[in-house]
Parts: sequence; C-alpha cells; structure tokens
Amino acid sequence: MSDLLTISANAFPDELLCRNDTVLRADIFALWFRWFTEGLCNPLHYVRDETKTIVDIMADTFSRVNLIFSHEPEPERMKLTEQLAIHIMAEVTRQRQLGRTHATLAEKQELIDDSGDKPRCWICGFAFGKDAIDRFLKKRSGILLDPLEFVDILMPRGLSSRDISIEVEHKLPVASGGGGKDNLALACGWCNKSKGARTSIYDADARAPRCSYTLGPHTWHELPHPFWTVRLLATRGKCEFHSGCSADVTNAELFIAPSDHRGSPNPCNLHVFCGQHDPYATHRFYGREVVRRIWDDRARAST
Ligand SMILES: [Zn+2]
Ligand SMILES: [Zn+2]
Repeated sequence: MSDLLTISANAFPDELLCRNDTVLRADIFALWFRWFTEGLCNPLHYVRDETKTIVDIMADTFSRVNLIFSHEPEPERMKLTEQLAIHIMAEVTRQRQLGRTHATLAEKQELIDDSGDKPRCWICGFAFGKDAIDRFLKKRSGILLDPLEFVDILMPRGLSSRDISIEVEHKLPVASGGGGKDNLALACGWCNKSKGARTSIYDADARAPRCSYTLGPHTWHELPHPFWTVRLLATRGKCEFHSGCSADVTNAELFIAPSDHRGSPNPCNLHVFCGQHDPYATHRFYGREVVRRIWDDRARAST
C-alpha cells in the first residue's frame, strides 16, 4: 500500500502518453465516473424491465447520495441525484437499444444522400462500394458482398462480407447527450462490430493480443486490439502526419500504424495516417486467408 501511495501521488506526464493524452485521460475519467454512478445504482437492474423509469433510478440514487454526501445541503443532494439519474438512465437506454437498428429506409436514404458522391464509414473513412449501398437501400434483392481479396493485417476489415457492408450506428454514446436522428451515422460492419458495446478505450483488453507476422522488414509479435483502432480512429478522425495533412475521415480512408517498430502496437504507439503518409502503405495488405490465419492464431493465443 505504501508503494501505491507513492505512485498515486504522482501526476502522470503527458509526454508519456505520446500525443494520445486527450483520449487516454478522458476515457479513464469516464471509466471512473461510470464505476461511481453504476456503483450507486446498477443500470442492469433496469435494462430488462422497460416499465422502470428515471423515477425508480432517482429513488435508488437519492438514498445513496444522502449517505455519501450527507454534509451537503439537501437541495444540492437533490440536484446531484437528478444529474446522476440522467446519466444512469442514459446508460439504461443505451443498453436497451444495443443491437437494435432504428433507421427506417427513408433515414438510410437520407444518410446516403447527405454523404455526397462517396459515402464512407464515419470511423475509418472506408468508401462503400456500389453493391454495399444498393444492399443497404434494398434496391436489389439477393446482393452478396464478396470479402476482399487483400486485407490490412493491422485492421482486418474485409475477411467477411459484413465487414464491408453498411451499418447504421449511434455516433455518440447516448450518455454523452446523444439521441435522435442527428446521431445516426454510417459505419462499416468491421468498425461497428469492433466497437460493440464498448465506450472507453479501457473497455478493451489492456494488452495487445499476441501473434506473429511480418510487417515491412520486421517481425511483429502483437496485433493492435480492434477496439483501440476504432477508438483512436473515431476520436482523431484525421491523418496525423507530423508536418500536417488535409486528409480526414470525410475525404480519405484512414489507417492505424505503430509510430515505432521497436514498440508494442498499443495506444501509446498507435497513430492515424492517410494512405499517402502511412508508413506501412506497401506492407500492410496481405491475402485474405493469410490475414485470417494470423488473426485466428491471435484469438487462440489470447484465450
Ligand atoms: Zn469503418
Ligand atoms: Zn496524410
């Protein structure tokens, strides 16, 4: 405990977070806040029973707030309870909505129309093919999307037809104030499935999954966790080339790459690049079955 006291008394220097300090700090605070609120009142008690409302959550929360903040005047405790209950209810709503597609065909058409001549995944900038768009808008029946012949080893989108299909996603977690149609965005199936129910970068395993492959002249022993990739792409949204670049998720496909080959591909060493500035542009694409085997080996190694 005395060692922990010494460590916890230090401020962690931003330099050690290697330009990803914003997301790494914000997500750890968001996680602490989630543990605090859910420790007061567990949203999972309410997810299944849809007759339960924010009033029930407030009743649970208020008794806990009264204990923890007994030194605060009652109006303050009441105000705090309301704010906490809004957050907890938002999480209940998010959990109730997981896996449900709310977009109507008209909303889907609007999302496609709003994305100009090249609809892209809002996270990785992958430009959807014509067949994927027709399938999404149900223009022709029985359209099958062929998996890609060559797949990015660091971000294996294209092993299945779902990966390159269009899905509708809630862009912001509802707990951040999202809700309503404005939040809907087009995502590729790979980004959407890699995101899953996760919201904080710490919701993914803390270690890069082990495996073995070559990238460029080097042998690598770990792969970036798909959710790290998605979280960094979604929060950065643009090429991070050191002397500037105008490529962003609205006009280009973006790639994740380790900044230094000597380090692990983790959130302190991963950065976002466009195709032109990608240090591994000529190395990252492998035949689909090779990538599948390497990612399958990773799955076995991590279980
Ligand atoms: Zn994507
Ligand atoms: Zn660039």
